[in-house]
Amino acid sequence: MTPDPASFDAAKSYRERALKTLSYGVSSTPRGRQQPAPIVADRAAGAHIWDRTGSRFIDYAAGYGPLILGHSPSCVIDAVKAELDRGLRTASVHEGEATLAELVCETLPAAQKCAFVSSGSEAIQLALRIARAATGRTKVVKFRGNYHGWMDGVHVAGAPGNDGPGTIGQDPGAAASLTILDWGDTNALAETLNSDYAAVILEPVAVNGGCFAPPNGFLAEARRLTKQHGAVLIFDEVITGYRLALGGAQAVHGVTPDMAVIGKAMGGGLPIGAVVGSDAVMEPVSSGRLLHRGTFNGNPVSIAAAIACISHLMEHAPTLYPYIDGLAAQLETGLRDAAARNGTVCTVNRTGSAVQLALGVAEMRGLADTARADFPATARFAGHLLREGVQIIGRGLTYTTAAHDAGDIAETITAYDAAFKAMADE
Ligand code: PLP
Repeated sequence: MTPDPASFDAAKSYRERALKTLSYGVSSTPRGRQQPAPIVADRAAGAHIWDRTGSRFIDYAAGYGPLILGHSPSCVIDAVKAELDRGLRTASVHEGEATLAELVCETLPAAQKCAFVSSGSEAIQLALRIARAATGRTKVVKFRGNYHGWMDGVHVAGAPGNDGPGTIGQDPGAAASLTILDWGDTNALAETLNSDYAAVILEPVAVNGGCFAPPNGFLAEARRLTKQHGAVLIFDEVITGYRLALGGAQAVHGVTPDMAVIGKAMGGGLPIGAVVGSDAVMEPVSSGRLLHRGTFNGNPVSIAAAIACISHLMEHAPTLYPYIDGLAAQLETGLRDAAARNGTVCTVNRTGSAVQLALGVAEMRGLADTARADFPATARFAGHLLREGVQIIGRGLTYTTAAHDAGDIAETITAYDAAFKAMADE
């Protein structure tokens, strides 16, 4: 069912109001770039969002990844409600913290100890601090196109062709201890690493760069080289943790890092992040020598949501992951077929339940291809899809969730055709 065009008029007038007092009219810049206008979510359930005009959208943005069970999984909602009834208890020690840590240690191969924070970016900051403390070294290898959150020390080399800061206003000195390499380039890693390096941080599956699986042998070689040089291998599994599989990319690819950073899907929609690692590498923080701070760390509501979400994933993993991956595979094929029917040149990449569309390139196998893709056109395509009642992330990323069903997929594939036609008519 296509949304009433009045939806977008309402969205535009809300935006005008919000821009008067709210920076960029949103709370995270990319949300403000949604075309034709950022829809204003009034309520959401399962796979759908409704705006105040009553229009319904099939949602594949999934909260930028966290909503692996959809918008209102009863296990998460019930756990949060029960927790609210017990009082907020912010910044108090509570039993849920250890319960969640036990679940995380049971599910993630790298996890012997956990430290909780409130977002992925904070977790990355903490992970690098722990790695530097554990090794007594400063330098870190980071790979081009991998996104590790918005903190000054890592928010560089995110976009192809720009190794510098990701935005104006960053301290250019904050990332001075980073060495930037091409993701997947094991020779460069071998030539670079020495006893000055505290860590190598990487997305094991490059979802942010264009949805690439790791090149053959890359993760194993990163594992071998970091061990050889005494550097901490950190997997950024903020997207892949609990989404690619219960054990994350580390389980899927059979390489266990010293440390992993998780967030997004672990919380089922509530804000949370964590650093996990071996007893040895986590010693600085486990012993209390390294300051791990944060008023909202381990807040009982987020912890309760994460316990509920991970428990549900543990119980249903054998069917849930094939289900969401299967839906994504249908969208992958549907997108490719619709593009072919409409004569549109594009690439569709998929890793698990994440599907990346990029217009303007016939194949996208690495960051050099990503650099040639037409992301402004991809964002316009996302805008046409939104007009058809389907929301994806503006840079072409789609996440399936356990709440999507065959009806959503069929409707979405019909919407693909309409959106490609609208692109052709632009
Ligand atoms: N790491 C990766 C791989 C991410 O994709 C993100 C966010 O998209 C982050 C870290 C930062 O997480 P957050 O947005 O929760 O701060």
